Amino acid sequence: MSGRRLAKRAGRSLGLAALALMAALLVGCAHGGLEGEGEVTLFQVSTIDALMDGAYEGQVSLAQLARHGDLGIGTFQGLDGEMVALDGRFYQVKADGRAYAADPALKTPFANVVRFAPQRVLALRGTMSLEELCQAIDQALPSPNLFYAVRIDGDFAYLKTRSVPAQHRPYPKLVEVVKQQSVFQFNQVRGTVLGFRCPAFVKGVNVPGWHLHFIDQARDAGGHVLGLKVVDPRVQIAVASRFVMVLPQEGEFMHSDLAVDRGADLKQVEKGR
Ligand SMILES: [Zn+2]
Repeated sequence: MSGRRLAKRAGRSLGLAALALMAALLVGCAHGGLEGEGEVTLFQVSTIDALMDGAYEGQVSLAQLARHGDLGIGTFQGLDGEMVALDGRFYQVKADGRAYAADPALKTPFANVVRFAPQRVLALRGTMSLEELCQAIDQALPSPNLFYAVRIDGDFAYLKTRSVPAQHRPYPKLVEVVKQQSVFQFNQVRGTVLGFRCPAFVKGVNVPGWHLHFIDQARDAGGHVLGLKVVDPRVQIAVASRFVMVLPQEGEFMHSDLAVDRGADLKQVEKGR
């Protein structure tokens, strides 16, 4: 083979390689490559087990948290209520059941947020309970092994939420605090349920399965969802294939025993009464 012909052939295969690479990049963008720029990242402060163990010291301000997402859930310094972040606004649902605009300087000991860019909309039909709603969404998901952020807007025939009162040092464990939780019941309320579905492998780090909070349309009541009945919900879903966690470097977290299995306590804390 002459040198010229070789160069020509090499040039052609380089061209093909470049094309193949471009195709891979395009597929990466469409389906979520490991390094894709357009990916949704779940940003988390601390771990659920540290919170369970009483690490209630705020770590990240809401102003800082807002740089990582506009939709999310969590709690506040001293466990002072349930957090709802929606459309970039942060609400604090206190133990009186009312939602207050949260001070951007307020810090959170545990929270999850995403920049919510839904890739999928499900218009579900019928009346469904919390379990039925979660099952219906589960069936539409491509895999149980990714993170999902959801926003569910609808008319809720019934909704049961809770919030918790602010705690003081020495902080009791979360399973003790929820014994004094306030429970709120809503009938015929319009609003938004939002939160996350995490894979089973986050056990100890986050809540495996669903964790949802609610805020009503007037943005003045809400809480951690314990039960509901919803009619024809509209579900927006974002797949999050990236997970970033920031850990405290001070406070109770430093001495918390995070080798203990707190699965049974977590169930009690999450499902409540
Ligand atoms: Zn919650």
